[in-house]
Amino acid sequence: PRQTQFGLMSHAELVTEHETQTANYAKLKTEKLTLDITRGKPSPEQLDLSQELLELPGTADYRDANGTDVRNYGGLHGLPELRAIFGELLGIPVSNLLAGNNASLEIMHDLLVFAMLHGTADSVRRWADEPALKFLCPVPGYDRHFAITESLGFEMIPIPMRGDGPDTHLIAELAASDPSIKGLWAVPNYSNPTGITFSETVTRELVSMPTAAPDFRLFWDNAYAVHPLTDSAEPVLDVLGMAEAAGHPNRPFVLASTSKITFAGAGVSFFGSSTANVEWYLKHLGKKTIGPDKVNQLRHLRFFKDADGVRAHMQKHRAILEPKFKLVLRILEDRLGASKVASWTEPKGGYFISLDVLEGTASRVVALAKAAGIALTPAGSSYPYGKDPEDKNIRIAPSFPSEGELEKAMDGLATCVLLAASEKLLGHTA
Ligand code: PMP
Repeated sequence: PRQTQFGLMSHAELVTEHETQTANYAKLKTEKLTLDITRGKPSPEQLDLSQELLELPGTADYRDANGTDVRNYGGLHGLPELRAIFGELLGIPVSNLLAGNNASLEIMHDLLVFAMLHGTADSVRRWADEPALKFLCPVPGYDRHFAITESLGFEMIPIPMRGDGPDTHLIAELAASDPSIKGLWAVPNYSNPTGITFSETVTRELVSMPTAAPDFRLFWDNAYAVHPLTDSAEPVLDVLGMAEAAGHPNRPFVLASTSKITFAGAGVSFFGSSTANVEWYLKHLGKKTIGPDKVNQLRHLRFFKDADGVRAHMQKHRAILEPKFKLVLRILEDRLGASKVASWTEPKGGYFISLDVLEGTASRVVALAKAAGIALTPAGSSYPYGKDPEDKNIRIAPSFPSEGELEKAMDGLATCVLLAASEKLLGHTA
């Protein structure tokens, strides 16, 4: 059915619209769906792309090129050959890139805990001894980032995202004047959840700006560095080189992992930074572990062989993911386009689509969807403290469901968006 712009409807038309969507919603509920578009998990089909990993490295293969027996202790840095592959993809020299265990989030948590307990290479005191701790949080952003800084007691300051990255004017102003601001969360390529890639200008501003804190850090989480959904992949900028050239070599902490490349939760994580930061990190890491899981690293090395192996593998992911993203965008446009009660991002990569619904209705939409058997990430979860001040953002994760399930979930979600919007405009209290 053709839709008109809600804002242009008369009261009578809105009443009709509300009746239509109430009927649509009642019908939706009779379908007794159980669908989940909450988290950015790879689908079973995507996991199958890496099935060979389960047979690698094999019983006869347990040494890397240096002859290191990966079955034994040793080597805090991780396997050099695997670091070389990801160093090429991330633009980081092997000596400045470490390969770790299964979760880059664990490294991020460690970095912050080490800074709290010991101070960084540039700190005058331990962060735990600072009178106040604050962190800059581009919004909408990744809930697990915000959860770490919240749990460690940072006051989180939301920073609006623009089309080319976070608002650097606001960031520069705040960071220059307040020494308790210790860092910024950043997902530079195909951000979670907006899909936005930071421009070179934004990146340069972030590495160059003066900061009141001498130990200010960019948590440069490049979780989606090699995850394009189009033919022209966004470049991975040499943030470490740019920071060094700008006179702030220790500012970026670069993170990445194969969680969305091979097996989510059973891949390999990476940490890249300046020589001083890598030494600082290894000093503290060496107290919590003798070394990472090198067997898993060797498995990944044998599976990929080289950087082109990773790129080719990512094209297989793209072939599965791209139709799902297109499906979501088509349904959003078909069902919500003309109504103008919602807007959404059209990512060129990554794992998410960020949907903005009519202000003040996101929680209602999520509750309506839940009651109809469609699980969405709780409204507000892309904001510090789980609070979206405008109650309008919803994160859509298209990867896990089949196309058939995704179509049903999105169609149902669209109904909930229209129902909540018509309720709101009619002044109904839900
Ligand atoms: N960073 C971002 C931006 C993510 O979206 C995710 C979820 N895949 C992670 C980190 C988690 O990565 P890992 O599994 O390596 O901890």
